[in-house]
Amino acid sequence: MGDKKILSIGLVCLDIINVVDKYPEEDTDTSFIVGDFARRGVDISGVAWQQWGETPCACCVVCPTNGSRTVVLSDTNLPDVSVEDFSKVDLSQYKWVHWEGRNADEQVKMIERVREYNSKQEEKTRITISVEIEKTREPLYQLFPLGDLVFVSKDVAQHFGFDSASAALKGFSSRVRKGATLICAWAEKGADAMGPDGVVIHSDAFPPEKLVDTLGAGDTFNASVIYSLLNGGSLQDALTFGCQIAGKKCGVHGYDGIL
Ligand code: ADP
Repeated sequence: MGDKKILSIGLVCLDIINVVDKYPEEDTDTSFIVGDFARRGVDISGVAWQQWGETPCACCVVCPTNGSRTVVLSDTNLPDVSVEDFSKVDLSQYKWVHWEGRNADEQVKMIERVREYNSKQEEKTRITISVEIEKTREPLYQLFPLGDLVFVSKDVAQHFGFDSASAALKGFSSRVRKGATLICAWAEKGADAMGPDGVVIHSDAFPPEKLVDTLGAGDTFNASVIYSLLNGGSLQDALTFGCQIAGKKCGVHGYDGIL
């Protein structure tokens, strides 16, 4: 054989090992999530409990020096909320419905149901429809003309070649419905919004004293904007409030203490 070597065919993988005192018991992920929602006062009576599939689980590596995050999501087989699930929702209980763009073909039909409902309501009982287009996936772009409020991410904006939030708003404005509002958050640069009048407004970010964890800053921003608008705030109020609360979130691990 002389000095001939051994050749291996395969893959190299970096293992990040989480050491635990005891392995989490089966199904405790669901009880943890249910308990966490209860503790925070989130009503889960509308949850579409799936017959099969597992709770999605992500391992996140957060770097405290700059707040960067790397998410390793275990491949999940949990079905998305379907039109059939949504048909069971009693719409009269809601003032606002927000869709995180996922199974867009189905979501289009859910939104149609709400528009249909709204057409039979008086102004004050109509439901506001918001959508978030966060991922660069072609089917999600059909949501642009469907929201009264549309959140579009920096990621999607850059994918379309826009290098700022204001450029993105101007570029995407022809895709949204008449009278709609478009919002684009841009991490440490804050966020911009364009209301039905076509004027672009801006809020700077509110960076925390120390950047700890930016995971979920976008969701925090969206929730805060919706909260503010629903409570009668102007678009500028909502944008500023969104950046304030999202900025606070970046200064803490998780979400405790952001209010
Ligand atoms: P995500 O990447 O979680 O979707 P975004 O980049 O959309 O978050 O940011 C949402 C909002 O969070 C921004 O408008 C800003 O107000 C706040 N934010 C995000 N990153 C930072 C940061 N590094 N410093 C301060 N605020 C931030």
